[in-house]
Amino acid sequence: MAGDRAMSDVAARLAAVRARIDAACARCGRDPASVALVAVSKTQGADAVRAAYDAGQRVFGENYVQELVEKARALEDLTELRWHFIGHLQRNKAKDVASVARCVETVDSVRLVEAIAKRVDASTPLEVMLQVNVGGEAQKSGCTPAELPALIDAVRATPLVLRGLMTVPPLGQEPEASRPHFRALRELAQQHGLRELSMGMSADLEVAIEEGATIVRVGTAIFGARA
Ligand SMILES: *Cc1c(COP(=O)(O)O)cnc(C)c1O
Repeated sequence: MAGDRAMSDVAARLAAVRARIDAACARCGRDPASVALVAVSKTQGADAVRAAYDAGQRVFGENYVQELVEKARALEDLTELRWHFIGHLQRNKAKDVASVARCVETVDSVRLVEAIAKRVDASTPLEVMLQVNVGGEAQKSGCTPAELPALIDAVRATPLVLRGLMTVPPLGQEPEASRPHFRALRELAQQHGLRELSMGMSADLEVAIEEGATIVRVGTAIFGARA
């Protein structure tokens, strides 16, 4: 089959990413079990997700609502698969995401909290993370650190489960350039008594783990370059 080689590549690259996580944890004295890997499958086919699932991966991240919904349908038979939504979410799409995702990592406004909360019932707990624009970049998703307290209160007034904070540092720089952003996110989480930190991608997951990441979101290092 034409795809066999590509699929074994996914398994090999996934193993390499897990080895990077283990090595980073060993260097800073952390338990590798304290770092969850979200395999970011945006733009990749359902067959690639299936290959990663067959290699033991269970949590996947998607950025686009339509793509998430279609892939979730195509992969319904993978009963242990859990989706994290990690893209910019418009309020009018909250319903579609809430129906498939286990966790929405990119909540950044009170209005979005309310839109998502309206779409869940208490029997299906939906986890959320608050995306913070710690770099203060213009044109970027995420709340400011100053907006966090109001957002935390808003989530706690709903049945949504607040897991922690998420950030995407400025792209295209040296991995080390992410460190101050990761550190700032960790300090914010500490201030607000939140445990989970979703930070670190293919290029900078080691730095993120050193700074306390509990979730790393890795795409290209597992699936190869996106088309
Ligand atoms: C695409 C994406 C990732 C994965 O990025 P890679 O560099 O391919 O590992 C992680 N987080 C978010 C929010 C993304 O959009």
